[in-house]
Amino acid sequence: MPTVEQIREALRVVIDPELHRSIVELDMVRRIDLGPDGEVAVTVSLTTAGCPIRGHFQGAVRDAVMSLGGVRTVSVDFDVLDEQQKVALRATLGRSELPEGALAQVENVICIGSGKGGVGKSTLTANLAAALRAEGRRVGVLDADVWGYSIPRMLGLGAQRPSVSAERKIIPLDAGGIAVMSIGFFVEEDAAVVWRGPMLHKALKQFLEDVEWGALDFLLIDLPPGTGDVSMTLAQLLPMATFVIVTTPQAAAQRVARRSAEMASKVSLEISGVIENMSSFVTPSGERYAIFGEGGGQALATELDVPLLASVPLTMPLREQSDAGLPLVASDPDDPAAQAIRHAARGLIALAPPPRPRALAPVGMALPMAG
Ligand code: ADP
Repeated sequence: MPTVEQIREALRVVIDPELHRSIVELDMVRRIDLGPDGEVAVTVSLTTAGCPIRGHFQGAVRDAVMSLGGVRTVSVDFDVLDEQQKVALRATLGRSELPEGALAQVENVICIGSGKGGVGKSTLTANLAAALRAEGRRVGVLDADVWGYSIPRMLGLGAQRPSVSAERKIIPLDAGGIAVMSIGFFVEEDAAVVWRGPMLHKALKQFLEDVEWGALDFLLIDLPPGTGDVSMTLAQLLPMATFVIVTTPQAAAQRVARRSAEMASKVSLEISGVIENMSSFVTPSGERYAIFGEGGGQALATELDVPLLASVPLTMPLREQSDAGLPLVASDPDDPAAQAIRHAARGLIALAPPPRPRALAPVGMALPMAG
């Protein structure tokens, strides 16, 4: 059976995703109690009672303690930091305010990833956003594909640049009701920027924390292809995010896509599903050509034990409308590719957990309390 000190040490790996430091370092581990038969009870103090990341702490604390030998059960309880503890935490962080969590009003964060470039990940992200919007959902897109910022162009955003609010928050641009933020807004067009790990980490952190995303049902994040730094950073910052993998039907593409799935599971991001793109091409006379082969999306979904959210055919309008900055699902919802993407969007809605209960804002005046 480990000692209280050993358990406290093990809890150093649990990072507060909003404050980006260990809960041990931030003095948020309030109590550790040991029972006679390998039971461990940990109490973690949160900054607010309605903290949306309770679930993250619950899982991470349990995993960290369970990794020690001799532990049979772990229970995790929560309380809220008192005023004095908040003052101490502000001092540790060197901030006058504790962050409320820029994403506190975002219900679902979905990362769209692919094993390699050119499989239509950005096209699908832009069109999924438009499809979710058409279903009446509040949607934002973060273009984190640092090697090719295509989302602004695909959503018809030209030379506009985001402004900064009085509270020094970056206001996303609006593309037909979709809130959009892209690293491309801040670098010159076609500039070859070499993003090194720490710089990229900082930029993404800022896009998640300093952007006024507001209340969203879905924030879609267009990841760069592959399994690099960005996914690791996001997994660290967004433990509640889920992952959608885009692949073409070829067996070779599917193998590459599987690597990004492996990475996602290594950093404990849940995979929601697979979308197969460029599935087949149907001529105007109805002949069907499986240009990139067949079945890769379903095979990957089966292997990962997740749903195949859609098979999106190759259609010329999807490419043309992307180039023109008009999401096809909005301009021609009956195009076969648009229909498939709308199907995937409805799948994402069905898979999303029910909305979190929100703390009600106090109404009226505070009455003086007796006593
Ligand atoms: P990625 O983001 O994976 O690099 P893109 O979304 O930029 O890929 O797509 C690459 C190219 O393929 C773009 O020109 C896009 O318009 C086109 N494209 C993607 N999916 C389809 C499709 N289903 N039908 C026709 N063109 C497509």
